[in-house]
Amino acid sequence: MPPTLHNATLTDGRIVDVHLASGRVHSAEPANGHPSKHGDIDLTGYLLLPAPAEPHAHLDKALSFDEIRPPPGDLSSAIAAWEGYTPTLTVEGIAERARRAALSLLSNGTTAVRSHVNLLRGDTPLRGVQALVQVRDELSSVMDIQLVVMAPHGSSDKAVHAALDLGVDFVGGHPHQTPDPSANLQKLLAIAKARSVGVDMHTDEQLNPMMLTLEELAHSVQGWPASMPVTAGHCVSLGMVTPDVQERVIEAIMASNIGIVSLPITNLYLQGRESRAATPRGLTPARALIDAGARFSAGADNVRDPFNPLGRSDALETAMLLVTAGHLTVDEAYRAVSVGARDVMSMPTAGVEKGMRADLLAIRAHTLGDAVATAPMDRIVLHQGRLISKSRTEQAFCSF
Ligand SMILES: [Zn+2]
Repeated sequence: MPPTLHNATLTDGRIVDVHLASGRVHSAEPANGHPSKHGDIDLTGYLLLPAPAEPHAHLDKALSFDEIRPPPGDLSSAIAAWEGYTPTLTVEGIAERARRAALSLLSNGTTAVRSHVNLLRGDTPLRGVQALVQVRDELSSVMDIQLVVMAPHGSSDKAVHAALDLGVDFVGGHPHQTPDPSANLQKLLAIAKARSVGVDMHTDEQLNPMMLTLEELAHSVQGWPASMPVTAGHCVSLGMVTPDVQERVIEAIMASNIGIVSLPITNLYLQGRESRAATPRGLTPARALIDAGARFSAGADNVRDPFNPLGRSDALETAMLLVTAGHLTVDEAYRAVSVGARDVMSMPTAGVEKGMRADLLAIRAHTLGDAVATAPMDRIVLHQGRLISKSRTEQAFCSF
């Protein structure tokens, strides 16, 4: 018998009792004040939200910063630090960090994660893939994990196929960092087509406005079926082009139904380091994409690894940055890390309305602005209507 959620505050201020059935919301009615039956959850003082989803993680790299101790630097130096470390990686070691990172996301409310996983150089390129498939399977009853094989320049088609054979869901890469971006992009798209899977590309993660693999990607995948969804992460150069070019590329994005993922924390860290004045933010142009009606989401990308020394695996951190650095409203920002992210991930909509998937986050806050501003750690997480995690903090003022 699923729990009933009592006295939950919704973002519109209503206080409701939420009844669940078969992993979904059966009804949300004005709270009747009756005491809960055994197993129900009292959410008095909690705001009830659609659970966050993380559309772009790197669980294979997460939490490696303290082991690698890389110098501060840009994207190239982060890649060099990571690649220098990869010969030491074991399947067990990668799985241990990935599991910790996934559970950290889950305890903060994120019940669905899409993680990229690198093919590694050398004779055993699939260690990361093996580790993440293992972690995905271990955690499958408490959270949804999707995997994207990230094929760096020089990796063989055979290795990409082998990753798909092991159970990876999507093909990915970072064509803008290869000597011939167009050839690399087309090679990866051809593999996805041959296997009838979707793609999720690292796209134009640089400030050069002439680097627009996003436009070629959009034109190349027009007409792909919904069963082969296409996602583009970063899209940094799209924020550096002239307004007319931006409009043209966004039209192509709309025509091909690509989902966009903005990754503010990592891009703010990696981009523009060479500028001592008027430092560009290096962000996806969120406002232009949202105003055009594009499928827009946001994630954290890297967490405590050479690409980002910080991060707390909390979607509210990403939402805060979308407001502060990306100039979205609080509502738009939370949508990008929850409902928008699940849309880009081709997952059922989660939320408090009847029929929606009961992936929910209850957080001790009065309003959404209160939640994003203060990110309280008192949280209750449900996945498909099941209570998965409870966190509670204790605070006392002393010596008064
Ligand atoms: Zn990434």
